[in-house]
Amino acid sequence: MLECQVHGAEDLRVVDVPTPQPGPGEVLVRLGAAGICGSDMHYYFHGRNGSFVIREPLVPGHEASGVVAATGAGVRRVKAGDRIAVNPSKPCGQCAGCREGRENLCSNMRFLGSASVFPHMHGTFREFFLMPESQCVPVSTGVSLAEIAMSEPLSIALHSAHRAGNLLGKRVLITGSGTIGCMMTLAVKLAGAAHVAITDVVDHPLDVARQVGADVTVRTDQLPKDGRLSDLIGEPDVAFEVSGAPSALAACMETVRRGGIIVQVGTLPPDGMHLLANQIMARELDLRGSFRFANVFDHAVRSIAERRVDVRPVLSGVHPLTDAVHALTLARDKTVSMKVQLGPTEA
Ligand SMILES: [Zn+2]
Ligand SMILES: [Zn+2]
Repeated sequence: MLECQVHGAEDLRVVDVPTPQPGPGEVLVRLGAAGICGSDMHYYFHGRNGSFVIREPLVPGHEASGVVAATGAGVRRVKAGDRIAVNPSKPCGQCAGCREGRENLCSNMRFLGSASVFPHMHGTFREFFLMPESQCVPVSTGVSLAEIAMSEPLSIALHSAHRAGNLLGKRVLITGSGTIGCMMTLAVKLAGAAHVAITDVVDHPLDVARQVGADVTVRTDQLPKDGRLSDLIGEPDVAFEVSGAPSALAACMETVRRGGIIVQVGTLPPDGMHLLANQIMARELDLRGSFRFANVFDHAVRSIAERRVDVRPVLSGVHPLTDAVHALTLARDKTVSMKVQLGPTEA
């Protein structure tokens, strides 16, 4: 079977390796689709993702669907031929975060396709992989494997929506309209938000955001000089910062209404930013973080399986593993691509 190994910056090799065999409690999954995410691009283009540096060849990928090829002894949740979504999180179940039900804050998390631990946790950019039964969620409806692979990014957005609390009838601002911004749009609408305004500095992702339900789209780079975002969209109750741009978090803080809530979803530069922190005091803002997800993965899978959310406008095509470098390069170009995915050589 083929797998993609990143050996260092811009050094990706598609290697033929033996297909593994499932042990007790394990499932052998044949790849359906594996989304290319920001972290995968960081590993490929820079050999690192933030402070996580590649120290041995890493198989990236954490947004996957597949078909069960074989099961080990004792597996009950799925059987050969089932189509599944892969939950990339494996929390320890023992630490304070886990015991509190906040497994995304686990201090011993093992997350697919990550160099955060050594040996690295290899991901899903390969034809077959083994998964613990507990990380395989079966899907019985006819949605595509490409759609099922969006369960992970949708989980990120559902978790962020939970962090904001009750969204019923609320006016929402989302800064950043890439894949997560669009998932965020779907998630807040699912949670009952009345109005969604979304911003970006490129047209293509804003076009897609409209297709998934955004009510207003704004090119923040085209605001008139001294113009304020609130002149265009009013003062939202809740803002989600998804882009990772310091200027966007600042815009969220000055645009939400007094007493508003801001959820930081995007990753800001590691050196931090200048923050008008008195706004938090004087306007009683709630600034909340949101990291990965907890307890929402099965809900994300069901929402996609039953098409209560339609992720299809966000899908930008599935490319064979052998074409991974081309696909990674395409994924980086936000003027043409949203979610680019990898799939088996012959689908
Ligand atoms: Zn991702
Ligand atoms: Zn834990």
